[in-house]
Amino acid sequence: MRNSSENFTYSGLAARGIFGFGTIGQLEDEVAALGVTKVLVLSTPDQHDQAEALSVQLGALSGGLYSKAAMHTPVEVTQDALHVYSSAGADGVVAIGGGSTIGLGKAIALRTACPQLVVPTTYAGSEMTSILGQTEHGEKTTLKTLDVLPETVIYDVDFTLSLPPLMSVTSGINAIAHAVEAMYAENANSVLSLMAAEGIGALTKALPLIIANPHDRQARYDALYGAWLCAICLGSGGVALHHKLCHVLGGSFDLPHAQTHTIILPHALAYNAPAIGEALARINAAMATQDAAGALYDIAKNAGATMALKDLGMPEAGIEKAAQIALKNPYYNPRPLEETSIRTLIEAAWHGSRPTC
Ligand code: NAD
Repeated sequence: MRNSSENFTYSGLAARGIFGFGTIGQLEDEVAALGVTKVLVLSTPDQHDQAEALSVQLGALSGGLYSKAAMHTPVEVTQDALHVYSSAGADGVVAIGGGSTIGLGKAIALRTACPQLVVPTTYAGSEMTSILGQTEHGEKTTLKTLDVLPETVIYDVDFTLSLPPLMSVTSGINAIAHAVEAMYAENANSVLSLMAAEGIGALTKALPLIIANPHDRQARYDALYGAWLCAICLGSGGVALHHKLCHVLGGSFDLPHAQTHTIILPHALAYNAPAIGEALARINAAMATQDAAGALYDIAKNAGATMALKDLGMPEAGIEKAAQIALKNPYYNPRPLEETSIRTLIEAAWHGSRPTC
């Protein structure tokens, strides 16, 4: 379905994606195709064993492991990893994991111009973007440059089978948020909307099935496929109020990434609903519902996700602070930001109430 008679520009980012079950079997060929001779394999401490298995699989192409990737890409960790990278004589990286590990690979690529091969194991979507967030002395800065865009992404559904069900749902809703906002961002267009609708539909069908049975291979396949499409939306599309609020809340109160997205998305969507008629109709159709905001809330709540910011540890006094920061330097948003309504939105998310479109 096209947006009605628009002129538009679509700027896709060039990344190679390999998708399916067992696709990790193509790792050596794909690393060699990047023209590198030795890679450093990256992971978090939790995924050390998976990184080690990839290193063994790579044989002479592996220069070893670095398994200390951490949330929000601390610069000290990057510097430590760079030291290991040079000692190993590496000229490329393989990152296996979620946004934290992918962030470390991007940070190394930024400083060395090395090629990156990424094996995503969550649905967060960093692998398809040219965005890198880093923290130094407790302060987070974000940059956007094609220098950090991974060259090759191997989506292997098998690696997502171990993602705990609740984390699958919060990570999946984090992905859905990228597609929802791409539908009504400033540069929204028919090409992205197609991918966004397909991504939202695949994920919203798959997530309850994963909760019912985390080993449901078809649901895992659908969820990762949806996450890839949503990641493209983040990489090639724009964002609006939802992402602004999540950045403000994450940055000001150190709230966890995917859980914060899960709480905010239904409220941000309900806020924008009166201003996004055509996009809302597509989101509702993709989810087979009349009320996407309420339906997203229900998927998360039924999975046992935390639905109130207060339960993530945000103080009540933070509501006013967050509203003020969100209103300063706002991102583009289809509905103008009204101070009272924004405060009401954050208050509702703090209490964990169920919004409707
Ligand atoms: P994460 O990478 O921090 O992973 C959370 C935990 O889950 C880690 O311990 C990880 O090892 C573990 N894990 C990951 N996959 C697993 C699996 N399949 N089985 C078992 N455990 C697994 O979480 P995330 O939500 O993917 O990433 C969040 C970070 O990524 C944030 O810092 C966020 O800012 C960043 N991010 C960046 C972009 C971007 O475009 N730059 C996009 C999205 C997220």
